[in-house]
Amino acid sequence: MSYEKLQQIVDESKSIVFFGGAGVSTESGIPDFRSVDGLYHQKYDWPPEEILSHTFFYRHTKDFYRFYRDKMLALDASPNQAHLKLAQWEREGKLLGIVTQNIDGLHSAAGNKKVFELHGSVHRNYCTECGKSFSPEYIRDSHEDIPRCDTCGGLIKPDVVLYEEGLDSDTLSGAIHVIRQADMMIVAGTSLTVYPAAGLLQYFRGRNLVLINRDVTPMDSNADLVIHDKVGQVLGSLR
Ligand code: ZN
Repeated sequence: MSYEKLQQIVDESKSIVFFGGAGVSTESGIPDFRSVDGLYHQKYDWPPEEILSHTFFYRHTKDFYRFYRDKMLALDASPNQAHLKLAQWEREGKLLGIVTQNIDGLHSAAGNKKVFELHGSVHRNYCTECGKSFSPEYIRDSHEDIPRCDTCGGLIKPDVVLYEEGLDSDTLSGAIHVIRQADMMIVAGTSLTVYPAAGLLQYFRGRNLVLINRDVTPMDSNADLVIHDKVGQVLGSLR
């Protein structure tokens, strides 16, 4: 029933914006470190939120990279039904853009062009000394505990937004711009508790707000349609 309603709203909409969180990538095998069965309950000396902080990166760089290579750098993952459906909608001209909290680059891998990666991407890495760019494979395959620049020896940092760091202002304003223009907003795979997710929703002026998430979110009562299911399964069932 709710799937039919969703299809109806999608059919009526001309400019969809998609806002996604970790739950969009779990069906690609990328764990959500905030979820109960995610990384929290795995063995590390610090909680993931501490390891993925700016202070920790510079103070315990070796431990950061051990965790990062092991848990964050999921280069074998491929796009799932959710990513593929969004790519199809962009090709068809129905989708204005994607705003994502994920750093896995799977929307680009699926073929989407207009993607605002609020928290950056594991696919971009740069030398903190000379600014040279490096591929994620360079980080993965480095024989050193800490990957270093092959030109100047400087420390390489992934272009991901760590805790204590601010969001890129161009990415944020681009995200706000597409959200403002959309007639339908799909918010999926996020509990809406992470900054700036909930705040971005206030820019939406369109007709239909749809939430797709496995669990209840604080915004459920504000939405026109709420579906508590897996994101890929839901989107994959649509035309
Ligand atoms: Zn360098």
